[in-house]
Amino acid sequence: MIRWTMAGALAGAALMAALALAACGAGPAGPAAERTGPMQDDQGEKLVLTDAEWRARLTPEQYRILRRRGTERAFSGTLWKEHRDGVYVCAGCGQPLFDARTKFDSGTGWPSYFEPIDERAVETEPDRSWFTVRTEVHCARCGGHLGHVFEDGPEPTGLRYCINSAALEFRPRRRHDASDDPPRD
Ligand SMILES: [Zn+2]
Repeated sequence: MIRWTMAGALAGAALMAALALAACGAGPAGPAAERTGPMQDDQGEKLVLTDAEWRARLTPEQYRILRRRGTERAFSGTLWKEHRDGVYVCAGCGQPLFDARTKFDSGTGWPSYFEPIDERAVETEPDRSWFTVRTEVHCARCGGHLGHVFEDGPEPTGLRYCINSAALEFRPRRRHDASDDPPRD
């Protein structure tokens, strides 16, 4: 696996772009990359907004990544070096997506997880952009693009969810706070 250092990441934008393509990849931005089909809303749980509503709701960077399938530059996000215990939720709709306990240091400069917090939280689809086939990952609730999943992750799943920081928000888990745990009978 390619590993590179902070100094290496700062070496040049062209190099970073190439490495970004290799590790997480950047889809083509623009209307052609946008999903056009109607979103599923069978249980009233899906969050469906118009493009104008998403623009108003999100920061420009969040919009570029979540709604235009963008990719942030490696090591440019805020969460790849986040090591606190907590939960990562969708920046678009707030749905919990990844638990800090499944996060690992992939060395790629993007937050990486070996599994989602719930298999129903994310959905995947083939991404054939950039002359290769990768597996795109998006939020099951709002359809927001998160990143890609690769089969070179650690045990126990062998998967590497390579996710953009800008697609996530981190919620630290407070100790002795029962409200953070699911209710038990
Ligand atoms: Zn979402």
